[in-house]
Amino acid sequence: MKMPTVAFVGRPNVGKSTIFNRIAGERISIVEDTPGVTRDRIYAHGEWLTTEFAMIDTGGIQMDDQPFSAQIRSQAEIAIEEADVIVFIVDAKSGLTDDDEQVARILYQSDKPIVLAVNKADNPETREDIYDFYALGVGDPIPISGVHGLGIGDLLDKVVENFPDLSGEVENDDIRFSLIGRPNVGKSSIVNALLGEDRVIVSDIAGTTRDAIDTRFVANDISFTMVDTAGIRKRGKVYENTERYSVMRAMSAIDQSDVALFVINAEEGIREQDKRVAGYAHDAGKAIVIVVNKWDTLKKNNHTQADFEKIIRDEFQYMTYAPIIFVSAKTKQRIDQLPDLIKRVYDNHERRIQSSALNDVIMDAIAIHPTPTVNTKRLRIYYATQVAVGPPTFVIFVNDPELMHFSYSRFLENQIRDHFDFSGTPIRIIKRSRK
Ligand code: GDP
Ligand code: GDP
Repeated sequence: MKMPTVAFVGRPNVGKSTIFNRIAGERISIVEDTPGVTRDRIYAHGEWLTTEFAMIDTGGIQMDDQPFSAQIRSQAEIAIEEADVIVFIVDAKSGLTDDDEQVARILYQSDKPIVLAVNKADNPETREDIYDFYALGVGDPIPISGVHGLGIGDLLDKVVENFPDLSGEVENDDIRFSLIGRPNVGKSSIVNALLGEDRVIVSDIAGTTRDAIDTRFVANDISFTMVDTAGIRKRGKVYENTERYSVMRAMSAIDQSDVALFVINAEEGIREQDKRVAGYAHDAGKAIVIVVNKWDTLKKNNHTQADFEKIIRDEFQYMTYAPIIFVSAKTKQRIDQLPDLIKRVYDNHERRIQSSALNDVIMDAIAIHPTPTVNTKRLRIYYATQVAVGPPTFVIFVNDPELMHFSYSRFLENQIRDHFDFSGTPIRIIKRSRK
């Protein structure tokens, strides 16, 4: 569940996002037919040999009203705070600059491993220029070319070598969930309301590798770990209130959770940022609960809730499976229903269906709505089987996957949902041709 994180830092234009995109781009999505919502330019997954990791392009986190030197400082601080390994990128073409030295001075203050990459070393001549960068005092420079894809493997070898060993971290059976949403929607108020009164707080788990702290508690005899509670409560540094930072933080919390509580502010409605974060949780295959907070602030009549629900369903058409709960952290209205709701969607996320029951549903579905014919060729469905949980993933064997369009997959998904309780969880349908 926990993935090591690597952050890219360096002054503007050295090639951070070029390298980030190159590494992220080499991953092929195994998920077919899900409208991809989430290719983000600051936070993404990477993979090298057998190691999966999360990546942050700190250059994407900019504070428009801040002077240049403050931006560089904030970005380096974010790298120190969030990453297990920092990749410090400099530019072979422009050579060593004062700004590079400024970044190096901030990085010295951390004991996180630093890998120095000299980008734009496109040809043998420029590779001679890397020696100047020893002066930064952060170790051996590795020549790379983001544009041409040179040296990236050597760089990643070095990165992976420096990852902490997370295998020793104890996994327990707690349901792991995170609260995600824009600043000020009320996440920390919900945390306080949830943990108030009669919940037993088992422990705060200090992260061994970063300063994120998870909180364990028991409610209704169910054990929960709330992911990155510290990140929710923290406030104050310049960048912590920026949108890009909070999106990045949310994506990282989602990665570490089974269930995402996606918090919306009833007073303000839905914003673009909400959609990106929800889309990420959906694509990541996490169970989702939509929590509409500050319900106390609305003047209500007997259709306020239905109206609000309709707006949410319109805005998030790809996740109609997510239950919506209207709460107030202030008055505690329905806060005590959250633990059971989290448990319910978690159970559905882990649900396994017997092949026989599944195939009965699929065959009945075909009888209701016969498979389509495309250019005189008819789609044939042979059988289906569930291959994974968390999220539930089904493989459907067919004569020719090309013949099964999104609309038919969606129809089958709806039929499966009508017969089994998968509320709160995305499900994945993979079509395969039978050999
Ligand atoms: P960032 O501001 O650090 O994220 O830098 P970008 O990734 O946006 O790159 C800045 C510029 O440098 C762009 O014009 C890139 O095309 C260029 N660039 C990036 N990597 C290389 C490289 O390996 N070689 C050369 N010649 N140019 C590069
Ligand atoms: P966060 O940034 O998402 O963690 O949001 P906070 O929990 O810090 O809340 C932001 C502001 O909204 C604070 O002033 C809270 O007192 C207020 N707030 C949070 N929940 C509610 C609620 O249910 N009703 C009302 N009226 N205010 C709330």
